Parts: sequence; structure tokens; C-alpha cells
Amino acid sequence: MEQRPILMIIGDGMGDRPVPELDGRTPLAAARTPVLDELASGGACGLLDPIGPGVCAGSDTAHLALLGYDPYRYYTGRGPLEAAGVGLEPREGDVAFRCNFSTVEERDGELIVVDRRAGRIEEGTEELAAALDGLELLDGEVTAHFRESVAHRAALVLRGGKLGGEVADVDPHHEGVTVEPCRVLLPEGDPGYVPARRTAAALDEFIRRSFEIMGGLEVNRRRREAGRLPANIILPRGGGLVPHIPTFERRYGLRAGAVVEVGLLQGLLGSYLGLELIDCPEATGGMDTDVAAMAAALTRAVEDYEFIFLNLKAPDLAGHDDLPREKIRACELLDELLGRLRPVWEGRVVMAVSADHSTPCECGDHAGDPVPLLVHGPGVRPDTVKTYDEFACAAGALGHPLGRDLLPLLLTYANRYTKFGA
Ligand SMILES: [Zn+2]
Repeated sequence: MEQRPILMIIGDGMGDRPVPELDGRTPLAAARTPVLDELASGGACGLLDPIGPGVCAGSDTAHLALLGYDPYRYYTGRGPLEAAGVGLEPREGDVAFRCNFSTVEERDGELIVVDRRAGRIEEGTEELAAALDGLELLDGEVTAHFRESVAHRAALVLRGGKLGGEVADVDPHHEGVTVEPCRVLLPEGDPGYVPARRTAAALDEFIRRSFEIMGGLEVNRRRREAGRLPANIILPRGGGLVPHIPTFERRYGLRAGAVVEVGLLQGLLGSYLGLELIDCPEATGGMDTDVAAMAAALTRAVEDYEFIFLNLKAPDLAGHDDLPREKIRACELLDELLGRLRPVWEGRVVMAVSADHSTPCECGDHAGDPVPLLVHGPGVRPDTVKTYDEFACAAGALGHPLGRDLLPLLLTYANRYTKFGA
């Protein structure tokens, strides 16, 4: 049997609800998408719940599920993903946090948050991070690994001995309030309490020392001179214990590459799951993204990889902004991309087109509504669905699978399955 390449194409946040100004159609239903409709006619369709019915999925948890990883097992908060994304290479047993460079003021021995983003700091964060990276905490038992990200963002990894991830955010998420010590989210006596208590103690020490060290750094001297707020403390949030996570290649035995536009997914797919990130500088993550360049990158990738993934961010942006007509354009971008991919999907590739979650315009955010799914390729039995949208796909032969069902289905059509039983 021929083993076929697999292509998974995700329109980020593409699912939607009936929109009154579109006469009750969804943006996808209202969009002109001849290629998607042709693929729906030639393939099998369904409605997919990325994580579970009614579960409002984040892009990160949804992508874990779509790639066959149980998000309830492998997702332990944004911290580990952020740390992977900035190249800190978190290991199993570390606890990782997302952080902000922030500004505080000391009053009566308390630290009051003046600006959570340190005057929207853009420059000098590398120098600030270098002063904190490698700090030894708890008498040398725990080491802090720290690196700057974009603008006021950064990531922290605590490593050493048994640490727990169940700690609250130290970042109070508001200005004008006191920075409180890190709280443990488990009751005393819980088996996880002691390791989480250790994390909290190491984190409190790190934050105190960040305040002692950062105020005196050259970057902040320059900022004060220029009338800017100093970045004089680190405020962590989104802490999580780093799980053992097998790479995609190890798990499925497939050489895998991905074209993804946004940092969160680059961190998740590239650093965390070990897919190779395929370079495509023209993919901007906005409405001005270059789908011709993306199609060209995917076409080349089919020669080099056995599994190729693509996420087009544009539909999600329009959903967040409650711009149905912009979302129509984003869906038409996806159609154009697939048109340019015709030589690929007319060949021996098994391809799925779906979304990671709905971002309904009326919600302006993610929601738990199921998303359209189509699977196309040699060996796929066409069903009666002729158009690709949330309404038509509901009648498709694939029914109503979960996100985690998708990859096994594609492995089957690609003749890359193994038998369960005799
Ligand atoms: Zn998303």
C-alpha cells in the first residue's frame, strides 16, 4: 500500500454563528469559496469539536488535540509554552511562567504596581534578562532561567528538585495594587502542597531579587533620564509544571513540518512538539498575509515531509474584532490558498481542512461551537456534501468527531495505521 503524505490546513477561529447582517449566514457560508466547495464535493465532511462538545478551546489546547495530544494531560498552562517559545527549552519537572517586565513603586515597605508593562518597554529587555538569568534561589537548590520575549513579555523557568505547578499568578493583573506573595492553590495536606510551596518560595525570592537588581541597571538609568518608567520588577503568571511530552515524530514516526504565523503556535508546534518550522517570512499573521508564498512553501514541503501543518491566522482576527465582512475575506484567502495548492491535492496527498475553534463575531472571542471539517484525498469516500460551511458539513459522512480523532482518521487514509488486535 502506498503511504501518502498528510496535509492539515487550519483556518484559525474560522467557525462562526449565523450573522444577522449576512441574512443569517455565517461568514464562511457567505464567502465565495469555489475551491473549498469542490473539495467538499470530492471529499467527506463533518462537524468537529476541537476538544469536546461546548468546550471553548484556546488555540494552544485545540492544536494539541488536533495533533493527537490529550490537552487535559499535556496542557499545564501558558508558562511552559511561552518558555519553549523563547527557546528556554523547559524540561520535565521544571515549572515555567509567562512574565511581564513591570514598574512598581515602594511605599511603606510594600511594592505597588504602577504599570504592568513598564511603560510598554521595547528596548533593553535583553540586558535586563541577562541580569536575572541563572540566579540561584533557595540556597542554590533552584536555578532561575529567564529570557525576554517580545516587548514587555518574558518567560521564566524554575529548575531544581521537586517543584509543583499549582501556584497562583503573582501578577495582580491590575495597577495600583500591592504585589502579594505567591499563593499555593492546593490545601495543606494535599500531596502536591509541599512541592508547590517550594515553587512559591523560589518565585517570591526571584521576584524580590528582580526588584533589588533591576532598578540599578543601566537600561533603567537611561529610561529614567528619558522620563520613562523603569522596568524594575518581574511579575509572573500562567505557571505550570512542564510535563513529559513526546515529540510528534517520536509519537507518530512521521517527519513533520509546519507553516504557522503566530508566536504561540511556533512555540507549541516547533519547540514543544518538535515539528520543523518551515520558513515563510511572507506569512504575516494578518489580513495582508501572502497566501501565494504559503502555498509555495507547502508545495515544497510535500517533497520533504510526511506530515505538513498550516495555520492561517486571519479568520480569527476578524472574529475577535466582530467584523463579519472582514472574516468573509479571510475565508476567501483560505480558498485562494487551496486553489494554489491544487497540484498538491490533486495528487496523492490526504488533506484535512478545518478550524481550531470558532471565534464567532457576535462573541468577539473564542466559543465552544463545533467547526466545519473536510477530508479529501485518494481513498476518501465522497459524501453528499457539496459546499464547505458550518451548515452543509453537519450532514457529512464524518459525523461529529473530536479534535483528537482527526489525526487517526488521516493516518488511516494515508495508509499509515497500525492494527488494533489480531
Ligand atoms: Zn486559534
